[in-house]
Order: sequence, then structure tokens, then C-alpha cells
Amino acid sequence: MSFRVIMHIDMDAFFAAIEQRDRPELRGKPVVVGAQPGRRGVVATCSYEARKFGVHSAMPIANACKLCPQAVYLTPDHHRYSDESEKVMAILERLSPIVEQCSIDEAFVDITGLERLFGAPADIGRRAKAMIAGELHLTASVGIGPNRQIAKIASDFRKPDGLTVVPPEGVLDFLAPLAVGRLRGVGPRLREELAKLGVRTVADLRAWPIAALAQRFGDSYGAWLYRQARGEASDEVGCDDEGRKQISKENTFDADVTDAQVIRDTLLALGADVGRQARREGRRGTTVTLKIRFAPFETHTRQTTLPHAIDSDRQIFRAAEKLFAAAGRAGRPVRLIGVGLSDWEDDRGQLDLEFVDDERETRLFAAVDRITEKYGRRAIGLGAAGAKNHDEE
Ligand SMILES: [Mg+2]
Repeated sequence: MSFRVIMHIDMDAFFAAIEQRDRPELRGKPVVVGAQPGRRGVVATCSYEARKFGVHSAMPIANACKLCPQAVYLTPDHHRYSDESEKVMAILERLSPIVEQCSIDEAFVDITGLERLFGAPADIGRRAKAMIAGELHLTASVGIGPNRQIAKIASDFRKPDGLTVVPPEGVLDFLAPLAVGRLRGVGPRLREELAKLGVRTVADLRAWPIAALAQRFGDSYGAWLYRQARGEASDEVGCDDEGRKQISKENTFDADVTDAQVIRDTLLALGADVGRQARREGRRGTTVTLKIRFAPFETHTRQTTLPHAIDSDRQIFRAAEKLFAAAGRAGRPVRLIGVGLSDWEDDRGQLDLEFVDDERETRLFAAVDRITEKYGRRAIGLGAAGAKNHDEE
């Protein structure tokens, strides 16, 4: 059996670290980035100095002010953080062609088979951290494991500036002492249910036979918990807490493209493809991601979060087009372009599941036709044929 080697990178106190890097007077001080004191809202990120006072992300800003009134309170500068995020992703893409950004400061990197190039997994982890520290003066925590769940738990294991490698044969021992809440998808309510059964650690959970878990939580959930306790959960879960992955489609051009109309048509086609899958699955997302690779191998990822959830081709396209324009690199030869949708709103009813919009289909195929005419049949493929879904491994 061969294992994959997955690395998860999580930047440390990302927004606060950028502020402290760029404003030396903030170094060593508690810094809270988020809502302004006296207003409604929460902490987005805070520096480690602020964490010593008990301040943490997602805490109401009023509570943070009570715990740490002397902190410097800053409003987030999302443009600047996005630029830094893009730089982090570009560094990771120099290590491996398979980088999946899952939030502004986190990414999974598939480093399977890179030993010949860069050494053992721990060496690759150290190399990633050194590149980020050397080029951006920021620290990251890195976790490496045989699947995404283990890699993600590992990156959180020692923070900040941590590096934790969990080899396949070490997974059971690594998980055993951890609180069950550390497992992806085990939220407060499930934790409570498990605590009633005396289950607090992963080892406690592992003591339960699959039949007993199935009886208590239902067949599929029981089986899922059973596998989670053994680090065997399927590799589908990204950074999304609900475990619902990003829908993304991308297209690699046979020849590098500079023609704005072709770029636009491709974005339109990819947006339609993502939208169609989202509607088929009954999901609406609030974050649109654009991935561009300039020739020969410079890849950028940009994200925007919208005020409301969307699933329409046109809205996804518009957001992607804006991101492309904001990248400010018109005229440069583009090799690859991708569009993604994520950050799902709560499940909706079933109403739209079978929804098919003829007009959109027509527009989509018109766009595909234009590209095909210009660049040949292999220039763009839709669905399984050409638009590779990044989440399917
Ligand atoms: Mg982080």
C-alpha cells in the first residue's frame, strides 16, 4: 500500500504578524486585528502577545477589550493580507505543483514523491518554513501526514513556528491522547454527546466497536467516527469545518494565451461549470477563488468573499473577472486559469437541485465554441474531460 504525503501549512497569527512585520513599533505588543472597540464584531486575528491575555479569534471585540484593554486595535487591511497570501502560495507552488489553498492563510500541498528532489518530508517542511521566513519574514506552522486530516491536526499541534511530521505508522499513537474535538468535524454538540459516553480522547473513541457507534449515531455517522478515530477518514475534508469541499474547475491552455477575449470566455465557461455543479449539489458559496498561472510556472491565487452566497454562472464569472482584473497583469501570457467556489451557506431546500438553465447552457457552449475555433479542440474541455477538479485525487 502506498501512502500520499500531504503537508498542511498554517500561517501563524497571519494578519497580526503582517502588521507587526510592517510596523516595528507593534512588535512585542498585543495586537488585535478585527472590529474596532466599541463596535459590534469579532477578533479576526490577534498576536501571540494578546493571546497571553486570553484573547482569541472569533471572540467578540468587547470581550477582547475587557481582557486586554492595552492592546493595539487595528481594522483589517484585506488587500494587503491577500497580497501576502498570494506570495505564500507562490512559494509553495515552487515546491509542488499540487497546492490547494483553503483559506487566506492555509494550504494543503501534496508532496508525495518529492523526496528525490527535496529530501525527506521533514526536510520539505523545513524548506517551506525557511522560504516563507526568508522571503516574507513571517512564520508558519507545518504538519505532514498521510492524509489531509492528519496533516491539518499536525500543523495545529505545535504553534507557532511548529513542524510536526506524522508518518503513516505513527498515526494511531499521534491521535490517541488528543481530545476528540481535535478531529475534523467533531463540533461542540457531538463532543458533548461523546462526553456523556465517557469519550474524551481519541483513544476513548477507539475503544468503541463500530456496531456500538452505529447504534448510537446511525450507520453512516457511526462508521465515519470509527474511521476518524483511526485516522482513516476519507481524504475529502478541506479547511471547511462542515467538511464540504471547494468546487473548482481549471483549464490548461495548449498554447499560452494573451487574448483578453479568450480569457474572458474561459472564465465564463469555468464559472458556468462551477455554477452548474454547485446547483446540482444544492450548494451556494460566498467565496470565489481565481487561480492563474502565467508562463512558464508562476501561479497566483486570489479570493474574494461576497456579502451573500451565490450559485449562478454569471455571478461566479463576474467575481472571477474582477479578481483577474485586480491581478493587474493584463497582456501577460496565461498558461492556466481556474475558478472555485467555497464557504458554503447552510444547506438549502431541494428546490433547485434539478435546475438547468437553457440560456446559460447556450452561452456557455457559445463561449466554448469560440475558444475551440481559435485554439483547437483540446484548448478547453468541460467536466471530466478537461476541467480538472482539484478536490478529486
Ligand atoms: Mg493561521
